[in-house]
Amino acid sequence: MIGGGAGGLITSSKLSAELSEEIKQEKVSITVFEGAETQEFQPGYLEVAFRGTDPQKLRRPMEKLLSPGVKVVHAKCASLDLDNHQIVTAKNQEKYDFDYVVVSTGCSPDYSQAPGLREENLDFYTDADVSSRIYKTLQGIKSGRVVVGIAGLPYKCPPSPNEAAFMVDEYLRRHGIRKNVDITFITPYTRIYTAEPINEVISPLYDERNIEARTVFNTDSVDPVKKEISSLEGDTVKYDYLFLTPPHKPASFLKETSYSDEDGWVKVDKLDLHITDHDFAFAIGDTNNIPTSKAGVEAHLEGIVVANNIAMNITGKGTKHLFTGRTQCSMETGFHDATFVVGTYDRPVEKIKPSKINYAEKKVMEHIYWGSLHGHYEWLFK
Ligand SMILES: Cc1cc2nc3c(=O)[nH]c(=O)nc-3n(C[C@H](O)[C@H](O)[C@H](O)COP(=O)(O)OP(=O)(O)OC[C@H]3O[C@@H](n4cnc5c(N)ncnc54)[C@H](O)[C@@H]3O)c2cc1C
Repeated sequence: MIGGGAGGLITSSKLSAELSEEIKQEKVSITVFEGAETQEFQPGYLEVAFRGTDPQKLRRPMEKLLSPGVKVVHAKCASLDLDNHQIVTAKNQEKYDFDYVVVSTGCSPDYSQAPGLREENLDFYTDADVSSRIYKTLQGIKSGRVVVGIAGLPYKCPPSPNEAAFMVDEYLRRHGIRKNVDITFITPYTRIYTAEPINEVISPLYDERNIEARTVFNTDSVDPVKKEISSLEGDTVKYDYLFLTPPHKPASFLKETSYSDEDGWVKVDKLDLHITDHDFAFAIGDTNNIPTSKAGVEAHLEGIVVANNIAMNITGKGTKHLFTGRTQCSMETGFHDATFVVGTYDRPVEKIKPSKINYAEKKVMEHIYWGSLHGHYEWLFK
């Protein structure tokens, strides 16, 4: 596995369980290449940003997350040569060979696309510490204009910009200053949420909560002097505080390879996730180019499919599994209500009304997340 986040860890733990005999007999070894010493529960960045949760609560050391028989190399991958089955690490340019490889390097904010955005924006995607800067800023707001929304595509967790709008609104109402602050949500899409059934559910809430929505707004640049965002369409939005979702990019070593597209997203088969023309190599989670959301549930389910199929190839036992394209992202709508964005390749997103029960389910996911990386609670993903 290259990348030991949500997708890489479940893949390694499933492989460790399926191939325990082969690992014991030293016929198989499993290695995770991971640049970071710790992992963070990324959905919790919203809680850090808008409710002041301590960033430390989201963190776990890598070593605690590894299943039996899984080794970690604490180094970033600098290159992946599929023709020669070789990984080269950034640290000391060490070379490693492999029989199977799973790319699970996720994605991260790309501030190069909109001049001025990096300087002016505070985001809840980079990491937990950066997210905490939003909460500090919120605490100082007395009046003004807050702008949230989507500053470029693609990005991870499709509902998260909308969640930010609802959570800022909730914070300001709870602190009695909502009437002094305007909230504007910008999006390049033609509606507030791209999937119509969810759009129908949340649009009335934008009206109810007095959150202005500016659709078909493709962010072009941010002017720090005028405090103004300009769009490719020629529109502008004024701001005092920017908590925008930046566009995301894949890991840099994937760019300009034969197996990724022009932006560096890895080209895979959408059903078994093998990298085009390489049946021993796979890419899962945020870093591949399949037509689903970039979200943890997808990374998890894709990892299980890939681990099953690699184990089947090695042992000659079992049956091949395919990914259904299932997405299941929670969307908090403020004041302890939430809806879910649920669908598959064949089943369009459902219309699910916000409720306290959905919110409770979202909270359960937070509690079981770390255990789920060890392969526990699989019934919840069925
Ligand atoms: C605010 C927010 C809210 C979210 N809410 C939800 C939600 O409600 N539901 C949901 O399903 N998902 C949610 N997500 C998305 C979810 O966290 C990601 O989609 C998921 O983590 C993707 O898993 P991954 O394995 O592809 O990438 P990641 O978990 O990001 O892991 C990638 C790993 O690769 C490592 N890496 C990167 N480059 C290299 C390299 N060159 N060499 C070695 N290692 C490398 C990174 O350090 C990282 O550890 C949310 C995300 C955010 C930010």
